Amino acid sequence: MQATETQTGGCYCSAVRFAITAAPLVKGQCHCRACQHMAGGAPQYFLLVPPTGFAWTQGQPRTYTRQDIENAVTRYFCPDCGTQLVTVRQDNPAFVVKVGVLDDPSEFKPRVAICHAQAQSFHHVPDGIPVFDDLPTG
Ligand SMILES: [Zn+2]
Ligand SMILES: [Zn+2]
Repeated sequence: MQATETQTGGCYCSAVRFAITAAPLVKGQCHCRACQHMAGGAPQYFLLVPPTGFAWTQGQPRTYTRQDIENAVTRYFCPDCGTQLVTVRQDNPAFVVKVGVLDDPSEFKPRVAICHAQAQSFHHVPDGIPVFDDLPTG
């Protein structure tokens, strides 16, 4: 994928749409329990996109941030169909875009697995990619 290539995506009902115009900083898969809640038990596949390279192009996502845990992420989702689209961490302004909502996810390859300490035995990690128990530091 070239840095200038635009990728588009949206929710299940197409009410909310977005465009990515920057090369992802990270391509990965997250095995945390929250991701398992959102992804039918699987890890979530994601692109970490710099904030300047992401734009909503149609509709208004709703957001949700848990108040009962520290440093909770903010989740952006379609108010109509509920599809989860993007997560933003409090300590990083980049957009964590879910690969499943891309119009063409077929070219995605995860390059890192994170939060693997919470993985289930049925999760799969591709051979040869780095695996972190938690988030990579630094
Ligand atoms: Zn929708
Ligand atoms: Zn996760």
